[in-house]
Amino acid sequence: MPYWSIFCLYCRGYIIDALLECVPTAKQADPAYKRLFRAEPGAALACPYCNGLIGFDAQGRPVVPQSGWPVFRYGEAELKLKRAADGESPTTPLADWALRCRFVQPGTHPPLTTYTYAEQVPPDESVP
Ligand SMILES: [Zn+2]
Repeated sequence: MPYWSIFCLYCRGYIIDALLECVPTAKQADPAYKRLFRAEPGAALACPYCNGLIGFDAQGRPVVPQSGWPVFRYGEAELKLKRAADGESPTTPLADWALRCRFVQPGTHPPLTTYTYAEQVPPDESVP
């Protein structure tokens, strides 16, 4: 999995581990997924804290993504599997698990409280 860690442009939450393995498998087949993986321009990740869309410039720095770039979001199902792999109870809210184990340094927004999961958007979602 990728080695980049970034602060969100919008909420200043710290994404220490991008958890890109929790993007649904079908979306991982999108060529743009590799760009996101390598922190390259051409793909956007929805911030797990504030839901804002984050892309990268040619130097790998987080930027506001360009219109038309494919959007990648975490799948609720995939996050539940990760929660189980972390040894958490299935009754633990994803937001509680995420704050304790995965997205542990929020800025203005706690993680996964207002998040739009991959299951809730069209598979071909792009930056407006
Ligand atoms: Zn954010």
